[in-house]
Order: sequence, then structure tokens, then C-alpha cells
Amino acid sequence: MKNPSYKKDQTGRQNRKPGRVRTVIWNTVKCQKWLSAGILCAVVGAVVVALLPPLILGKIVDTITAGRMVPFAIILLYFGMLALTGITESIRESLLTLFGQKITHALRSSLMEKFVSLTTENINRQEPGMLVSRFVGDVDTVENLFTFGIISMFADVCKIISILVVIWYQNRGLTLVLLMLLPILFVFTRQVQKNMLTAQIENRKAVGRASGHVPETLHNIRTIHCLAKERYMEERYDQYIGESYQAMERTNFYDAVYSPVILILNAVVVAIVMLLSATGNAKVLSLFGMSAGTAVAVMNYISQIFTPVESLGMEIQTIQSAIAGIHRINEFFELEEKKIRNLQEEQKDDIHSPFVEFEDVTFGYDEHMVLEHMNLKVEQGEQVTLSGRTGAGKSTIMKLLLGLYEPQQGQIFLQGIPVSAMRETGKRKLYGYVEQSFHIVPGTVRDQITLYDKTITDRQVQVAAELTGLKDTIESLEHGYDTECTPELFSQGQWQLLSIARAAVSEPKLLLLDEITANLDAETEQEVLQALKRVSENRTVISISHRNSAEMGRIVRLLGKI
Ligand code: ATP
Ligand code: MG
Repeated sequence: MKNPSYKKDQTGRQNRKPGRVRTVIWNTVKCQKWLSAGILCAVVGAVVVALLPPLILGKIVDTITAGRMVPFAIILLYFGMLALTGITESIRESLLTLFGQKITHALRSSLMEKFVSLTTENINRQEPGMLVSRFVGDVDTVENLFTFGIISMFADVCKIISILVVIWYQNRGLTLVLLMLLPILFVFTRQVQKNMLTAQIENRKAVGRASGHVPETLHNIRTIHCLAKERYMEERYDQYIGESYQAMERTNFYDAVYSPVILILNAVVVAIVMLLSATGNAKVLSLFGMSAGTAVAVMNYISQIFTPVESLGMEIQTIQSAIAGIHRINEFFELEEKKIRNLQEEQKDDIHSPFVEFEDVTFGYDEHMVLEHMNLKVEQGEQVTLSGRTGAGKSTIMKLLLGLYEPQQGQIFLQGIPVSAMRETGKRKLYGYVEQSFHIVPGTVRDQITLYDKTITDRQVQVAAELTGLKDTIESLEHGYDTECTPELFSQGQWQLLSIARAAVSEPKLLLLDEITANLDAETEQEVLQALKRVSENRTVISISHRNSAEMGRIVRLLGKI
């Protein structure tokens, strides 16, 4: 009898909320309160401090033109302020970089957390290249959002506004000229940046094609010589480097034109304001009139105001690519996760329930139905072999039993508990899964058996190795169990034995064996089967085999869809 509450729980369970980028950023801000406060102070401080040196310089010039001595303290203050401007700006940049790194770290951790909790279907669907670009490229765009994007943009806007406000009090006419000129400057800068970016992307593509052409030529060199295609390959290479050269030329052109245009614009604004301030017209002077000191100060401000306008364009670009990156990361965060249920604590040894039970199970991968209304009972201590044609769904049964996939209909119980409710941490004590091929993990022979589980003792490792007949082979290695594993270290049969040792070391209640002798010769197969017999004693075993020689216990034949 199964506890009906398990079925209820299966429908009532909840998926964990996806950790969206915004949440990760907000949590980082909350965890890094001091850093966030420091950035805010540094941003505001850098804007305010940068306003002071031109004002002091103006005062110095006015004092000199009035024929008075400039106090040494004022000169010291001027240089002090210049130094302070540099210091606050570099503090701001350092704190922003630090903050960006914290965001990157938090995002990558959440992405990995998400990745390992995805459903098996979703993990299978991931394309490695796309996945890497989420973890690397997209996270970098979010880091850039903070280091070169949104905060710098805020700082630049503050800088532009504060300079305009200060100039307004010094020279209203100049403020009006700047208000007219800055939007034009911004549009021009943005246009140049867009063109440069397009040229840079084209260049990168052309360089990619050109660098791909070299290994391609090398790879096919015999075919090229046989078919006399040398000229063709040469011309194609010329075309790629020609495209790259043209794109580079365009980038260089914009780069070369932009700076002089800005310098000329700067000079023109200064010249216009100076000319107007020198006219005798009282009306014009009411707007443009100023002292020599003020003139020096405003010239200083004009060159200061051009830089943030130039930066704004790049910051918009950074923000745009960060938005696209955030969008892609959020899509990943929204993928379905494995459902977590905590029914392990409620596990009861129900003597009426079979050890394993498939109850009216229907399952398919997407549209492709593999099992339909399947029923299977395996009693504790029983040994069952699943046999059937290729593609009949034998390995699928194992995966369902391991809780990697969930049936679309029906339930699978292990000791009366739905397998999808098994806690991940308890699984190794429950299942020993031996696949057809062995998957090496980085590390030593011991690591292959323990899978880094520190609770498994050396004694247990030795017992498992002995059980599978590998003890002598391992001990004859120079470093024994501490030998670093490479694919050549063991033969295929030995790897298979190691795979059994890996499954057996945690003394699981249920052994699942998926065609583990399929690729072995008759002698090695016997060796592996002997090892299996020893490991299978007093255990429930479900195995898959195509060969009669490897069949164990009761045979269950699958006829395609069952
Ligand atoms: P074999 O004896 O060849 O190992 P099998 O009985 O173990 O065959 P399964 O591996 O269970 O067969 O596959 C059953 C069907 O499910 C096959 O048609 C296979 O194409 C399909 N299938 C298996 N794994 C997936 C998957 N991850 N995604 C989509 N379809 C799958
Ligand atoms: Mg199979």
C-alpha cells in the first residue's frame, strides 16, 4: 500500500523562483552596503571636486590682472584640488571595478546553481557554445554595465548638468551656446561611434574568416595540391584580408577625423564666446561679458564638458548590449528546474509494497512516446534483466527509475516512495548505476571510486576494489590509489570494473546495470560478470542485456512500446 499523501504532494509541489539578474544585482547591493555607499560618495564627490579647480584658477587670474599678489595658500589649494579630482576619480573607478567583479561573481554562481538544478530535459537541450556565452560573454556585459555603463552615465550626466549650472552663474550666453551645441555634438559622436562599431565588427568577422582559412588550407592541403586549387585558396585568403583591411581603414578614418573635429569645435566655441565678450554692445555684454579670470574658468569648463558628452555615446552602447545580455541570462534563469520534495523523512519500510514498482507508466521524449502504460514490480533482493530490441526503452526505464525524467502519466515507486521525491543527497546510498561506458572524473583512482565523497573511507575503497577484482591492478600502479587517472591507465574491461567499484562502494540497495559487458570480449565479460555476482549478493539488481550470457535472474522482455 502506498501512502496517498505522496501523490497529493506530487501535484502540490512548487518550483523554486528563478533568480533573475535584477534579484542577483539587488542582493549584491544589499550584501555590499559599504561598497555601494562608497561608490555613491565617490561619484558625487568626483563631480563636485572637478568643479572647483577652474573656479580657483579664475580667482587667481582675476587677482593677477588686478595687480595683486596671489596668496600661496590659494595656489596650493588649486593644485590640491587638481590632485583631489584625480584621486576621487580613480577611487570611483576602482570601486566600480570591484563592484562589477562582485556582480560577475554573484551572477556566475547563480548561473551554476541554476544549471545544476535544471531538469534532465533542459540540460540535454543546452548547446555548449550558447551555454558558455551565457556564463562568459553575457555576464561580462552585465559587469560592463556597472564599470562602464549605468553609473558612469549617471556620473557624466551629473557632470554635464553641474558644469552647465556653474557656467550659468559665470556666463549666461555661453550656457545658451552650449545648450544648442551639446545635442549636435552628441548626435555627431553617436554617429561616429556607430560607424566605428560596424567597421570593427566587420573587421572581426573578416579576421575570423582569414584565420579560419589557414587551418582549413592546412587540413585539406593534399586535396588542394591534387586538384590544383592553390590559386583559388590564395585568392580567397586575399579577399578576406582585403575585407579586413577595408574595415580597418574605415575605423582609422573615423578615429582620425573625430578628435580634430572635437578640438576645432572646442576652439570655435571659445572663440565665439571671447569675441562676443569683447564687443562693445551692452546687450551682448549682458549675456557674454566676463572678467579675464572667468574667461579662463569657462574655457576650462568647456573642455571639461566635451569629455562626458563623448562618453555618453559609449555608455549607451554598453547599456544596450548589457540589456541584451540580461535578457539572455534571464531566459536561462527561467528554464524549468528539478522539483524538490522532501519526502525522504517520511520514508517507511512498508512490507506490502514491492521494492520497485512502475505503475501504469507512460513516458516519451517530447512527442516521441517510448513507454505506454507500463507496469513492472521488482521485489526486494530480486534480480531482473530487461531485454528487448534496440530503442525499446530499456535505458529509458533506468533513467526514469533514477528520477532523471518524470513520467507523463503513472508513477514509479521505490520502497513505496515516488522516485522523483528522493533527495539528491540520499541517492548514492540507494542506487548504484553502472553505465555502458565509464566517465572519468578529473583526479586519482580513489576519486573515480569515491567521486570526491569524503565520507567514504579508504577501507571501503579497498573493499570495493577487491570485490571487483581490481585491487592487485591498482596496487601495482606506482602511486596505487593516488595515481592520477588518464584514459590510457586501464583497459576498457578494467574501466568497467572500476565503474562497478564506483557503484558498489556506497553499498547501495539497488543496482542498475546498463549493458555493461556489451563491448567486452568473452573472457573479460566473464571477469566482469563474476565481479557483478559478488557485488549483487543480497541486493536488488535490475540489469539490461542483449546477450544471453549476461542475463541475470528473471527476464522481462520489452516489445517496443509496452
Ligand atoms: P539500446 O538497446 O539501443 O540501448 P534502449 O532500449 O536502451 O536501446 P533507449 O535508449 O531507452 O533505448 O531509447 C528509447 C527511444 O528513446 C529511442 O528511440 C531513442 O531515440 C529515444 N531517446 C532516448 N534518449 C533520448 C533523449 N535524451 N531525447 C530524445 N529521445 C531519446
Ligand atoms: Mg540503452
